[in-house]
Amino acid sequence: MSASSDVAELRRRVADLERQLLQAQKLTTVGELASSITHEFNNVLTTVINYAKLGMRHKDDASRDKAFDKILAAGQRASRITTGLLSYARRGTERREATDLVKLVTDVLILVEKDLEHHRVRLELKIESQPVPSEVNAGQIQQVMLNLLVNARQAMANGGVLTVVVRGDAKAGLAEISVRDTGPGIPPDVLTKLFQPFFTTKQADEKGQGGNGLGLSLCREVVESHTGRITVQSRLGEGTTFSVTLPLAAAAVELSPAAAVLQRRGRSVARAG
Ligand code: ADP
Repeated sequence: MSASSDVAELRRRVADLERQLLQAQKLTTVGELASSITHEFNNVLTTVINYAKLGMRHKDDASRDKAFDKILAAGQRASRITTGLLSYARRGTERREATDLVKLVTDVLILVEKDLEHHRVRLELKIESQPVPSEVNAGQIQQVMLNLLVNARQAMANGGVLTVVVRGDAKAGLAEISVRDTGPGIPPDVLTKLFQPFFTTKQADEKGQGGNGLGLSLCREVVESHTGRITVQSRLGEGTTFSVTLPLAAAAVELSPAAAVLQRRGRSVARAG
């Protein structure tokens, strides 16, 4: 056998192994999610059943009110879980096309601009190169951005600075989007659980609004299905940075009208030198 056919055979085997590995990873994710959902719903049902029994046993108003409160909170939690699961299901078609990530990011920022202002969060957008083309499913990557932006805003309960950087690294063939906040940072023990489905530190408030712990696990799943990576760096008392890297595409894409609008407004957009 010639050296070149050896190399071709080796390449074929590596490609096969990669495919098998990807498939195995996919199955792990689906399996992990299914067992987490079962676990979470069992917890909710146990609460509902136990407090319903308690409410039936105790006839006094205070015990019944307490039981109703617990049942209501469990129902609201179940509803947050199903809403979160819907965004998994509604990820739309798998169609991917060359998209300018600068345009995509600025479109999402326009959606959250008012909310940031309302919570005294100053936005800094740094576009280090433009366009930054990547072959993506735009809806899915928008969802990733939205999750990261909402988390960052929620981390800055007393206001702060949100820095979003978009850049393309032609040499490395990578597009990168990072979202940095000046929130409290993430303790090391939380950092290791961050991407697990249903992991949340956000307690429900009186309206039943809280976390469902699905945001970051959805982000990771979407980014990895695009053969990208999502990483996090955090320092207690200083803040947190999430970075998403995706393969950079060679295709030409349209320049962003939304970026132009944000830049014309001038106030919060910085172009890094
Ligand atoms: P949820 O927002 O519903 O809690 P996520 O999966 O999006 O679910 O986030 C999981 C947890 O990660 C959050 O509850 C929070 O503890 C932590 N987290 C995420 N983003 C940040 C951030 N920017 N700063 C601090 N903690 C964060």
